[in-house]
Amino acid sequence: AEKELVAIVTGANKGIGKAIVERLAARFEGSYLAQTTGASSLLIYLTARDESRGLAALQEVRNTAPASVKIEFHPLDINSTESIHALAKSMKERHGQIDVLINNAAVATKGPAFDEQIVEFTLAPNYYGTKEMCLAFLPLLNPTHGRLINVSSMGGVLSRLSSPDLAARFRNARAVPEVDALMAEFRADVKAGTWKEKGWYGSAYATSKMGVTALTRALAHQTRDKNGLLVNAVCPGWVKTDMAGPSAPKTVEEGAVNPVMLALDDIKGKSGTFWNDSGEYEW
Ligand code: NDP
Repeated sequence: AEKELVAIVTGANKGIGKAIVERLAARFEGSYLAQTTGASSLLIYLTARDESRGLAALQEVRNTAPASVKIEFHPLDINSTESIHALAKSMKERHGQIDVLINNAAVATKGPAFDEQIVEFTLAPNYYGTKEMCLAFLPLLNPTHGRLINVSSMGGVLSRLSSPDLAARFRNARAVPEVDALMAEFRADVKAGTWKEKGWYGSAYATSKMGVTALTRALAHQTRDKNGLLVNAVCPGWVKTDMAGPSAPKTVEEGAVNPVMLALDDIKGKSGTFWNDSGEYEW
């Protein structure tokens, strides 16, 4: 029987997420993942929180996909537990398991404004939604070759924290509750107006991505016994999108390169790593 792999991309109606779907489709045939699994086709779920935006993107990416790749739309709002579990349930029923999950969806407010409301708005999808996706889909990811990729950011470098203790706690987190505790502390310190003296960096987006990278490392540690399941984080670079604006140097096609590399290529069994433009980054 013909073997088909299943991939899911979040926030794929535009920007880097949409380019990831196109590049996954273009690069699947002949990839390391295709060869080592003996799969001859790939089914990609292009997911988006807005159905009409998702379906519009689907029409475009379908035109560029080779015959061995099918692309379908599935609604997914990572701010909604219900929506996440509806997708997980439908994947379980249709396919039993999945092979690739790329958590790309995120938000960023424009400008340097920083307050409690912006922190809650930003952490909800970027950290908590991404975490919920990971926890819902890790049990469905193939344990011998599954790939989980979280799109993080160099914006979340730990050198931005003025507290070495906080930086060490992010770097050394080996379980998700430790990262949860850091995120809860950040929210409480913003609320109390003590974030600066506690050594945080005054950006909700940057801190959300510190959380995503720490979460990725913790999940890689927690799944190390499933030694074919690889969990990694990646910064796509500074990319021209609605989020980053027109002065960013990279195209969305360039931004999709490393996320898709982590999904399809021979990454030598690496898990818990963080990649940027220049390669693997010592976080
Ligand atoms: P865009 O703003 O262009 O796209 C973000 C995507 O995420 C959109 O499809 C958006 O959907 C979706 N999204 C937001 N919230 C949710 C949600 N609750 N549920 C489902 N989907 C959601 O941003 P980019 O393409 O630039 O960013 C993609 C990823 O790359 C993000 O993780 C970002 O943080 C990261 N990144 C980007 C950089 C850059 O320079 N562009 C640099 C470093 C990291 P909708 O259209 O409905 O809003």
